[in-house]
Amino acid sequence: MKRRLLLVALAWVPVWPVAAQTAATQTPAPSTAPAAPAIVAAENVYGDLATQLAGDGAKVTSVLSNPNEDPHLFEASPSVARALSEARIVIYNGADYDPWMVKLIKAGKAANRQVIVVADLVHKKAGDNPHLWYDTAIMAAAAKALSAALIAAAPPGKVGYEQRLLAFLESLKPVDAKIAAMRVKYDGAQVTATEPVFGYMATALGLVMRNERFQLAVMNSTEPRASDVAAFERDLRQHLVRVFIYNSQATDPAAKRLLDIATQAMVPVVGVTETMPAGQTYQAWMTAQLDALDTALNRSSAVSKPGPSMPAPSKPAPGKPTPGKSAP
Ligand SMILES: [Zn+2]
Repeated sequence: MKRRLLLVALAWVPVWPVAAQTAATQTPAPSTAPAAPAIVAAENVYGDLATQLAGDGAKVTSVLSNPNEDPHLFEASPSVARALSEARIVIYNGADYDPWMVKLIKAGKAANRQVIVVADLVHKKAGDNPHLWYDTAIMAAAAKALSAALIAAAPPGKVGYEQRLLAFLESLKPVDAKIAAMRVKYDGAQVTATEPVFGYMATALGLVMRNERFQLAVMNSTEPRASDVAAFERDLRQHLVRVFIYNSQATDPAAKRLLDIATQAMVPVVGVTETMPAGQTYQAWMTAQLDALDTALNRSSAVSKPGPSMPAPSKPAPGKPTPGKSAP
């Protein structure tokens, strides 16, 4: 749910103890420009969104920003609580991806703070795939909510916030066009992954994702079943999948072993991350990952031919909604 609260002007203290992301521009906003509200994003993908929408002088802090750490194992430090106490707008993923954020918000009440829970905007809950930003429609919904919060927090900036929202939504169109073009080529192609991180994008591309139970076990840091591991290995060794999507942020030994098997079996590997790499934008990041997957799927169509005993993968009827596709 989006909590709209009464807004009271508060002096903002520009001290950012956690990895701070400032606006892309180096020049300070003119003194006549309305002060941008301080924003804390639990994940840097939403921090990037906030930076794009808030514009010049935006004060955006992203808590999770290290693509070498597993976000599912993150624990917040006291500096995060301090940043939250100074924020006018807070955005986090929800769906049990960042439970530490829920605790911090409950612990430190702030009268003039607006909180956006992305999962709640699109009716996702604990147990659903939490990697919501791999669905561009969910990012569009998050952008609209964030823009509305910015306008509520700083009404004089309304025109600018609206323009930047439109620019963001426009910039998603080439990403969606790329997804649509790839879907034409790869609808029904069987793939597999070590974690459900890429799940929403795979669904949008029409890919058939195999070994999902294994992926959930890895995501939840539990031991995958022996039979699930065996099935995964068979998929790789017998080339039942065209690509192997590897979450390079996961340090799970079972996933690493499968990476070795995929490499040996010459199944093309596509690395994905859940935290946005530094120096990227959401749009550029998604495009780069789609390009890498496109290249790998193209390559696999040349090298991995199904054996004579294998049935051809069944293609879903065109135009039919794919099960699991989110309804934003
Ligand atoms: Zn994950």
